[in-house]
Amino acid sequence: MNFELSDKVAALRARVRAFMRDHVLPAEAAYHAHLEAATERFSIPPVIEELKAKARAEGLWNLWCPHPELGAGLNNLEYAPLAEEMGRSLIGPEVFNCNAPDTGNMEVLIHYGTEVQKAAWLKPLLAGKIRSAFAMTEPDVASSDATNVQASILRDGDEYVIRGRKWWTTGAPDPRCRILIVMGKTDPEAPKHRQQSMVLVPMDTPGVKLRRRLRVFGDDDAPHGHAEIDFEDVRVPAANLLLGEGRGFEIAQGRLGPGRIHHCMRLIGCAQRALEAMCDRASSRTAFGKTLAEQGVVRQAIARSASEIAQARLLTLAAADKMDREGNKAARDLIAMAKITVPQMAQTVIDRAIQVHGAKGVSQDTFLAGAFAYARTIRIADGPDEVHQDALARQLLKASQTP
Ligand SMILES: Cc1cc2nc3c(=O)[nH]c(=O)nc-3n(C[C@H](O)[C@H](O)[C@H](O)COP(=O)(O)OP(=O)(O)OC[C@H]3O[C@@H](n4cnc5c(N)ncnc54)[C@H](O)[C@@H]3O)c2cc1C
Repeated sequence: MNFELSDKVAALRARVRAFMRDHVLPAEAAYHAHLEAATERFSIPPVIEELKAKARAEGLWNLWCPHPELGAGLNNLEYAPLAEEMGRSLIGPEVFNCNAPDTGNMEVLIHYGTEVQKAAWLKPLLAGKIRSAFAMTEPDVASSDATNVQASILRDGDEYVIRGRKWWTTGAPDPRCRILIVMGKTDPEAPKHRQQSMVLVPMDTPGVKLRRRLRVFGDDDAPHGHAEIDFEDVRVPAANLLLGEGRGFEIAQGRLGPGRIHHCMRLIGCAQRALEAMCDRASSRTAFGKTLAEQGVVRQAIARSASEIAQARLLTLAAADKMDREGNKAARDLIAMAKITVPQMAQTVIDRAIQVHGAKGVSQDTFLAGAFAYARTIRIADGPDEVHQDALARQLLKASQTP
């Protein structure tokens, strides 16, 4: 494995790094001040659209997209160091049109969308004009097992009728969200993994009812948020179906591989920034006659964090590399290892940084509280830790029994 950056990627990383340093990190305060002052918290801070326009004008746009005609044409290994830079700020990925869940949804449209679906939804998503959401999880069933999903998508003439309740539909409360990808059952009698389908549902379709916005540790995650949505006899044209009836599980698997590794890349950036903040704070704060940096326990926190970030980065690069060389399926063990390891690592490193910051660490005055919540939730979203551990162990046990 050679993780040396090519000249092209090194140059791109330098540009993303400079953009983050010069424009994105300094804009965080204005972004949060807008939300703090806004009477409607689900309104878009103007600075974000300004930064998007600037990044796009500089060609730092859709760097996640491996298709050369649609995006930067980079593979996973090339994209990893760029995503890490963007991940240093929670507002970073959106600036470059590289944010979840839109990247995963665009990937679905690229792979499985018809030309009509692409023209309607992929084009404005790639341009950063609209946003999208992905509605799979349901409050009433254990959704880490996607075969449990109960929402129905039933054919009625030239239409599909959708009924059910979803929650944790990230990004649906964003005023720019125009399209949902909804997973439900078209045939509950079919074999277990052929019952599900995915359908495109425009947000303004009658019967799509946003019941409430969910909070993460008490924070509404405005302006994107997470919605609980009722689908009450929602009718969409039959042409809105993705790929075909019974193919929903297949799409979900295809969507989640790259999505999971992108979260890992971003979380490494979060953890790296937390480590740097920890070092700055430790060097500048004095307690009981010496700086915090002079305390053995703080030095240990710094050293362990640096080591754990380096391990997680190498593991993520190894997964990205295998995805590029052998495909997502062949890389699933490494993807699972990264998904098990990186969010936990980021949570631990950010937690240490919070501790070194004292009360400031849990306040809104650093990025640490938001980053901690992000790392913690990724241990659940896109498959909880235990589900990946179970899948990985199964693979390893199977392999150990193969002569
Ligand atoms: C911030 C955030 C954003 C999200 N965004 C989206 C989104 O945009 N779209 C969407 O559809 N969903 C989204 N989700 C939902 C997320 O994908 C689900 O919460 C996740 O799949 C788990 O499903 P569940 O909550 O129903 O937990 P359950 O399936 O009820 O599982 C609960 C717990 O059981 C344990 N468990 C489950 N299976 C096993 C096993 N095999 N072995 C051992 N233990 C096990 C795990 O500890 C797990 O956490 C989001 C969640 C969060 C927190």
